[in-house]
Amino acid sequence: MFDELDLDDALVSACKEMGFKKPTGIQQQVIPAAMEMRDILASAPTGTGKTAAFLLPALQFLLDNPRRDPGACRVLILTPTRELALQVFEQAKALSQFTRFNCGVITGGINYGTDKDLLEQNLDILVATPGRLFEHIEKESFDCREIEIFILDEADRMLDMGFGGIVNQIAAEARWRKQTYLFSATLEGGGVARFARDILNDPIEVQASATRSEQGKILQWIHLCDDAAHKFALLRHILQNQVQTAIVFVKTRDRLMELRGKLDSEGIANCYLQGEMPQDKRNLAIARFKAGEVKLLIATDVAARGIDVPDVSHVINYDMPRTADIYLHRIGRTGRAGKKGTAISLVEAHDIAMVPKVERYTGEALKRRVIEELKPKHKAPKLPAKKKKAPGKKSAAKKKVKKKK
Ligand code: AMP
Repeated sequence: MFDELDLDDALVSACKEMGFKKPTGIQQQVIPAAMEMRDILASAPTGTGKTAAFLLPALQFLLDNPRRDPGACRVLILTPTRELALQVFEQAKALSQFTRFNCGVITGGINYGTDKDLLEQNLDILVATPGRLFEHIEKESFDCREIEIFILDEADRMLDMGFGGIVNQIAAEARWRKQTYLFSATLEGGGVARFARDILNDPIEVQASATRSEQGKILQWIHLCDDAAHKFALLRHILQNQVQTAIVFVKTRDRLMELRGKLDSEGIANCYLQGEMPQDKRNLAIARFKAGEVKLLIATDVAARGIDVPDVSHVINYDMPRTADIYLHRIGRTGRAGKKGTAISLVEAHDIAMVPKVERYTGEALKRRVIEELKPKHKAPKLPAKKKKAPGKKSAAKKKVKKKK
């Protein structure tokens, strides 16, 4: 229960208002440690409740240490993408709804003038993407000296996107801070570890990969498809018979446009996200989808980065992803925070090799399902040997090679 975490009533009520019944694993671990003013190094993928895990103790700090005069930002949160910044900002507003704190967001792609107005206000919490914030620091329109808590969200992605240098400079500017939290989907790989060493001071390390129950149960299966027309017929059937809300993933922009054309001609309402889309159009598509106006969102992997859509019932892989890792990322958009989700992959012959790779990576079998009136005509192509058999065979082969030597 949230009231067992020593959080202020204003925050406990906000959690209730948002429908959070009990803290997730990562929240249970991070909140008490952060409230003792320790630095935090947390590995927490999306879907674990990581955002509230860093927002709640930061808000509690602001409540415990009220400031006398209005002034510049005290809690700075950096995120790799605009969408993530907007989601964190929305959660910050929701969790602080019973307090008087001001939250703001600054990202690229939004009118520069609007930022200036924001930065001139009294501000308690600012969520920002590193590039745009750094421009403000250089132009001296943002003052880092009052930052007391510095939070990095999805640090691994920030590094991947080449923001490491800028983030280090922002951290140096915010050197009077009292506390730093670094959240990353994974702590593996030298990059994040080095980054953490530079930025954190004797952190508590929290490893909370999403547990089954937190992730919810994701049912996964595949349908084998004869060709493009069969695949579309399967999609249409699934959309019309099984789905409440779905994200449909395709591999390229061209594929996205092609699929939109087909859906439009069938009168199936949809919205979409593609890489090169003006920010306001992206926001509008996400808002329409989140509000339930449209039940279907089509996206490429690039375009869908960092989007939080809390309750999609289905993720549909219209095209299989390039890697098993992307598969896991895609299906993580369903079955969040304890809800049930379904991930369906529509697999043509040219994508079949991806199936055993995904099975090995996730450790779960992808069962084949058939829709009676849309049975595939062709037999499934023979898949490479399954996990259980593979190691034995391989080691036997290896032994032979060794013997020859
Ligand atoms: P996150 O990992 O921060 O992206 O959160 C994933 C989803 O879980 C978001 O939609 C949150 O609103 C939701 N959430 C966060 N904490 C809780 C909680 N304690 N109980 C239920 N849902 C939560």
